[in-house]
Amino acid sequence: LVSIQGVHKIFDDLHVLKGVDVSVKRGEVCVLLGPSGSGKSTLLRCVNGLETISAGRIYFDGQLLGMQEKTKHGKPVLYELSNKDLSAQRARIGMVFQRFNLFPHMTALENVMEAPIQVKGLSKQTAKERALDLLARVGLSDRADHFPSQLSGGQQQRVAIARALAMEPELMLFDEPTSALDPELVGEVLSVMQDLAESGMTMIVVTHEIAFAREVANHVVFMDEGVIVEAGTAAEVIDNPQHPRAQEFFGKVM
Ligand code: ATP
Ligand code: MG
Repeated sequence: LVSIQGVHKIFDDLHVLKGVDVSVKRGEVCVLLGPSGSGKSTLLRCVNGLETISAGRIYFDGQLLGMQEKTKHGKPVLYELSNKDLSAQRARIGMVFQRFNLFPHMTALENVMEAPIQVKGLSKQTAKERALDLLARVGLSDRADHFPSQLSGGQQQRVAIARALAMEPELMLFDEPTSALDPELVGEVLSVMQDLAESGMTMIVVTHEIAFAREVANHVVFMDEGVIVEAGTAAEVIDNPQHPRAQEFFGKVM
């Protein structure tokens, strides 16, 4: 579903991604690990189009991200997507961030209903029915009418997941979704993510939760200084890393 090929990202004079290759098939979960500043968030932001890439290619569902191939005089020509097509493509990719960034003036239910009404043009009634289903799925049926400030961090993050799912994405990106949470709230969010993975959602997850990676990931990728240093199964990358930087990292976090 996603193929990241030789991607570079340069901010002014800072070379953050230095030729990154990652592929994730439909239904797979890829966990991305690495020290602070290694480029994990930047890579996710490139995949959902929040950042442009400096070199390389990202394919999403067989098409270059943000581009469209058309035939002109018998030859294939690449065009940038129009704003409308670009937002349609971006709607197929959901993202959940470290900070919950819910709309503070809206209830949990309204937060989940908002994008389907605004972007997909759903009727209020349909959006509400779907949002209630999604809130039930993340275990928050009894919190639909609460505002973010009345919810715990774990509950807010589950609303954020429901809100992303409301757009019916094919790919979900998670950037350290539990690292701002109190330890006792981490489990409820990971368990929602695990259910989502088991339902067949394709996911790329940046996390430091090693147990989650072991249990849920089809691939684990270890990144350091903008380069993928190790990639493989959790057993290979976490339990038997070959590269000294990965050995040092997993030696530290375990
Ligand atoms: P962390 O684990 O701390 O979240 P990370 O692996 O997600 O780290 P990134 O946030 O991708 O790392 O950042 C990689 C490098 O890119 C850092 O040195 C960061 O300062 C730099 N960087 C990120 N975004 C920008 C930006 N918009 N402009 C300039 N530099 C940036
Ligand atoms: Mg980050």
